[in-house]
Amino acid sequence: MTSSFRPHIVRLAGYVPGEQPQGGGYIKLNTNENPYPPSPRVLDALSRALTDRLRLYPDPVATEFRRAAAALHEVEPDMILAGNGSDDLLTILTRSFVGQGDLAAYPTPSYLLYSTLIRLEDGREHVVPYTPEWTLNLADFDRPDLKLVYLANPNSPSGTSLSRHQVAELARALPCPLVVDEAYADFAEEHCVSLVRDHPNVIVTRSFSKGYSLAGIRLGYLVAQAAIVDQLLKVKDSYNCDALSLVAGAAALEDQDYLGLARCKVLATRRRLTAALRDLGYAVPDSQANFVWATGGPPARETFEQLKERRVLVRLMSYPGYPAGLRISIGTDGEIDRLLQILTKLK
Ligand SMILES: *Cc1c(COP(=O)(O)O)cnc(C)c1O
Repeated sequence: MTSSFRPHIVRLAGYVPGEQPQGGGYIKLNTNENPYPPSPRVLDALSRALTDRLRLYPDPVATEFRRAAAALHEVEPDMILAGNGSDDLLTILTRSFVGQGDLAAYPTPSYLLYSTLIRLEDGREHVVPYTPEWTLNLADFDRPDLKLVYLANPNSPSGTSLSRHQVAELARALPCPLVVDEAYADFAEEHCVSLVRDHPNVIVTRSFSKGYSLAGIRLGYLVAQAAIVDQLLKVKDSYNCDALSLVAGAAALEDQDYLGLARCKVLATRRRLTAALRDLGYAVPDSQANFVWATGGPPARETFEQLKERRVLVRLMSYPGYPAGLRISIGTDGEIDRLLQILTKLK
């Protein structure tokens, strides 16, 4: 039956998400989940939503949720689109802007899903390398036929960020929409939502999986000008977000104090982990996210295996032309102590 598939699907290797071991017993520092629980308000809102209303379809346009997100960002609700995780929004955007043979760009090393999404549409990829200082050259985007550009900001795996000013410059230079994937913005000093008003081609995506400790419910949203959101609404599945996710997401957005507390703890641990890894001889760029990127220590694959043997999972990543490295999520202080204890012994 394989021969019945469209050839570009058969050619595609497929995106491989980080390992999600289903047995317990691992210290999980490999997919950037938040080590702290979600806001108690989220759990309250979820238990209140567990009624016989679950027999009804959810609101297809997520009215209440959009209102909460719009209030937080001081934009209008028609500038918000909810998605089944920000990955769903990235799919909707790719389907909307990239057709067969169309050119779409993303930097490398970065989030590998962009490549998969372009190839699923049988589009063409334009890959722009980061400089050794983790910046981008605008000239590398000088392709008049670009249909879409993705930018993870903060970037994964480096954890580094372009400034809002640099992102605005990129947006102005592009002939197409710029998706600013802000999955990690809750841990960063700056974000780009305020660019949306003056830059009609800027689309900012957000996730509940990292800052809000809700990777399990699958919810994200984007902020863009209303004329863009109007078109995207036609592309999404009718009921792309379920009733429980929408309720949980609105409650999470409304508890910014809680988000701030969890963020403070993660940032303190990030500082400590960065310093300790540098002391051990690793090169670690200053991170704006809830993970750090460590290269230049002992061979990354061996370290990865040795950590795994001791039940600590980190993410081993390698990109063509760049040294392999370990992307390490910021866990609790206890989890990071355990990681550092093992790395110190391996040294
Ligand atoms: C985790 C991540 C996402 C996916 O977020 P979900 O909301 O869980 O789908 C998107 N982009 C980047 C760069 C990420 O690291």
